[in-house]
Amino acid sequence: MPKTTQTVLEIDLNALANNYQYLVSKVKPGTKFMAVVKAYGYGSDAVIIAKELVGLGIDYLAVAYTNEGETLRDAKIETPILVLHPLPVNFEKIVSRCLEPSIYSRKMLEEFIHFAEKNKQTNYPIHLKFNTGLNRLGFVENDLIFIDNLLSKTESVKVKSMFSHLAASEDLNEKEFTLNQIEAFNRISEKLISKIGYTPLLHCANTSGIVNYPDAHFNMVRSGIGLYGFGNDKKENSHLKPIATLKTIISQIHSIKKGESVGYNRGLIAEQDTRSATLPIGHADGISRSYGKGKGWVTINGEKAPILGNVCMDMIMVNVTNIDCEEGDEAIVFGCSNTAEELSAAINSISYELITSVSQRIKRVICRK
Ligand SMILES: *Cc1c(COP(=O)(O)O)cnc(C)c1O
Repeated sequence: MPKTTQTVLEIDLNALANNYQYLVSKVKPGTKFMAVVKAYGYGSDAVIIAKELVGLGIDYLAVAYTNEGETLRDAKIETPILVLHPLPVNFEKIVSRCLEPSIYSRKMLEEFIHFAEKNKQTNYPIHLKFNTGLNRLGFVENDLIFIDNLLSKTESVKVKSMFSHLAASEDLNEKEFTLNQIEAFNRISEKLISKIGYTPLLHCANTSGIVNYPDAHFNMVRSGIGLYGFGNDKKENSHLKPIATLKTIISQIHSIKKGESVGYNRGLIAEQDTRSATLPIGHADGISRSYGKGKGWVTINGEKAPILGNVCMDMIMVNVTNIDCEEGDEAIVFGCSNTAEELSAAINSISYELITSVSQRIKRVICRK
C-alpha cells in the first residue's frame, strides 16, 4: 500500500479469506457457515465483507438489527439473512425484504404469527432462539409446549433453525458451564424436533465455540470476530489475520518545553522537553478518551508513540521525542502487529469494542495484501 495521506481504515480481503478458510478447516465438511456482519461488519464495511464472504461460499448472514439487513438487501445481496434482534415494529420490513427473524419469546412468536397470517404468508422462515445460560434473549425449555401449540395451528411460519448462544466459549475456566449449555441445547433441540416432526438447522457456536467446542458445531456455526481476525486466544490469533488496519498521518509536530502543557485541561504538563505529533483522529473516531494520558499509543516508523494528555474529539497528540519522524509520516493505530486486541487491553476493553467503534466518517479503503 502507498503511504496514507489521511485517516483511513484499510480492509484486507485476502486476510478475510484466510480467516474464513481457517475457520472452515475447524468444522466437519457439510457444516453450514453463518457469517455475522452486524455493526458494519464489526466496524469494517458490512456490504463489502458480506459480498466477499458470499463469493467464498458462506451459507448464511447474520445481523443484529433489521436496518442492517435492509442495507445488505439494498446492495443486492440475496443470501438468507438472520436478524438476531428484531423488534415487532420492524416485522413489515422484515417480511418485505425477505429477512429472517430470530424469535425469542412467547409474545414475539404470537405477534409474528399474527403478522404472517394477516399478510398471507406460508412457511415464512423463522429462527427460534433458546436461552441456555446467557440470560439475555431466548425461550426456555418450558416454552416448548407453548411453541408447539402455536406452530401446530398455523401454516404461516416454518422453523428454519433453532439456536442458542454461549456465554463464555472463550474462557476455558468456564468449561463446565459451557458444556452444560451445550447439553441443554442438545436436550431442547431433541424435544423440539420430536414435537415439530422435522429437523431444522441447529447452531450454537460462535468463533470461540468453533475452536474450543467441536461437539457444539451441530449443523451450522456462526462466526463474527474470527472472520475479522481475532480468536480470543494467542494460539488462535496466530492462525488469523486482522483484516482492518487503522492508519493516520502526522499533521503537525510541536516542540514542548519542560513545564508547558499539551491539550485540553492541560492533560499533560511536560516533565522534560518533549516533541509531540498531532494526528487527525480523536474520540469521535472511536479512540475513547480512556486511551489518553499514556494508556494508548500509535506506532510511527515502527516505534511506539504514547498518547499525550487528553484525547480530543478530532485529534490526539502523541509523544515522538525519541522517534525519527516528520510531518506527513504515517501512524498506525492498530493493525497486524500493533493489534486492536493489544491496544484495547490497555483500557481493559476487548478487540470487539475497539474495532466496532471506528467511526463512519473514516474512509474505508479495500485492498488485497
Ligand atoms: C455477535 C454474535 C455472534 C458472533 O460472535 P463472535 O464471538 O464474534 O464469533 C454469534 N451469535 C450471536 C447470537 C451474536 O450476537
